[in-house]
Amino acid sequence: MKTSRKLLLFACTLCMLTLALSVSIISNAADIKTVQLTAVSNSKNGLSVSWKKVGGVDGYIIYRQRMGSSGWKRLAKIEKASVVSYTDKSVRNGVRYTYTMKAYVGSGKSESSNRISRVYCAVPTVSSVKNISNGVYLKWKECAGADEYRIYRKSSGSDWKRIACVSPKNLSYTDSRVKSAVRYMYQIRQVCSKNISASGGNQKTVTFISAPKDLCATASVSGIQLSWKAVMGADRYYVFRKSSGEKSWKKVSEIKGSLTAWTDKFAPKGKTGYYRLRAVILSPKATSAYSSKAGAARLDKSTKMVALTFDDGPYRPVTNQILDVLQKYNSRATFFVVGSRVSTYSDCIRRAVSLGCEIGNHTYNHTTLTTASDSQILKEISDSNDALKKYTGCKASIVRAPGGSVNSRVLSLVPYPFISWSVDTMDWSHRSVSRTVQNIKNNVRDGSIVLMHDLYYSTGDATEIIVPWLIDQGYQIVTVSEMMKYKGTGLTNGKVYYQAW
Ligand code: ZN
Repeated sequence: MKTSRKLLLFACTLCMLTLALSVSIISNAADIKTVQLTAVSNSKNGLSVSWKKVGGVDGYIIYRQRMGSSGWKRLAKIEKASVVSYTDKSVRNGVRYTYTMKAYVGSGKSESSNRISRVYCAVPTVSSVKNISNGVYLKWKECAGADEYRIYRKSSGSDWKRIACVSPKNLSYTDSRVKSAVRYMYQIRQVCSKNISASGGNQKTVTFISAPKDLCATASVSGIQLSWKAVMGADRYYVFRKSSGEKSWKKVSEIKGSLTAWTDKFAPKGKTGYYRLRAVILSPKATSAYSSKAGAARLDKSTKMVALTFDDGPYRPVTNQILDVLQKYNSRATFFVVGSRVSTYSDCIRRAVSLGCEIGNHTYNHTTLTTASDSQILKEISDSNDALKKYTGCKASIVRAPGGSVNSRVLSLVPYPFISWSVDTMDWSHRSVSRTVQNIKNNVRDGSIVLMHDLYYSTGDATEIIVPWLIDQGYQIVTVSEMMKYKGTGLTNGKVYYQAW
């Protein structure tokens, strides 16, 4: 132990001797004034070295030592006495460099100046900024060795402000504290070894515009009606459509920014039309992310129709199984959801809406309406619709009473049409795939409303069998509202509907 320490001491002494020797060789003129280094700082392109001007010399020589190496390197010869700064561009991020310099006259050099060392922190490059649904998404290039990235933002009329510090694992950030129709500028700095990179890196600018929210699509005789929430600052809405069987989205219309509804009269008949929107600011041009999708269909009146309805859900595994089947066969169904389940299963409901399915109101707590008080009845219906509005954006326009129990008091109180059924699968009671399938096969006819429950795996499995069977039999599988519009007499508030005939 002691021996090795002595050896180390000896080695170090040798080192210092060598250094002293080399310094004494290159400094041979005591009468040339010594330079004074004033600063070494991070700049946009490298480490910027500056010094005080020395009179009566021909120029300066700058030396650099990289941390971890013992040798000094002659970095540059500045052949002009009036120059007082130099940017060392051959530096690596996160590495500490030490500088010293000498003034020279002819071949004579002054004593070495003081030394200043600094860790180089490269200025990160912002590679892109774009609008996404929940804010502005920015990406930057990696600075190997960074300890942290700092994101700065400036909006018109305000100064640069640091808005976030993110770990070096991230090379992207979503700024969600943005307002629609406001222009933002971004730049990034990084911290490495307790030093911060210079400001003045590249800046990227984007005008944020929110994606349209709560897109709803409903079938009507004249076409497919779309409605959405207004986007602040939008000059236009671009409407994109993809019909079942088509591979790509097509822009089908540009709507004025003051409107929040449009009817697609050219939607192909007999197919589901899927829609999504973008909000657009014209100058300087900014485009929002796409809205969520919504679908509906224009139907062929002369072809058989059936409305499959699923009550008491959603329940993620079963509802998704049913939606998978409907999606595969370009069909839609109506889900009478229980309001208290909406927040937990909002993803299922949004998916159903995006596939063109209809969402119905099945009260908030699955309360039997005929035995509830007037105020309780109204609250059950409105709480459920409020939850749907809050989590999915679309309110239900039809109601199914739990157990199908209604009376004249309920009907006169609730301002919606009530949907009953004509084919009861009894799926909740027997939980048998084959009995559910058989009940439908035996009783279905053009205009039937079929009752099932998306709570049971047996119902999900039965749906996988019955949907292709119905299509084979020539049925269009549609929502209740679609069927009532095309096959029935429409829907009137306070009336009960069992089928579309
Ligand atoms: Zn129910």
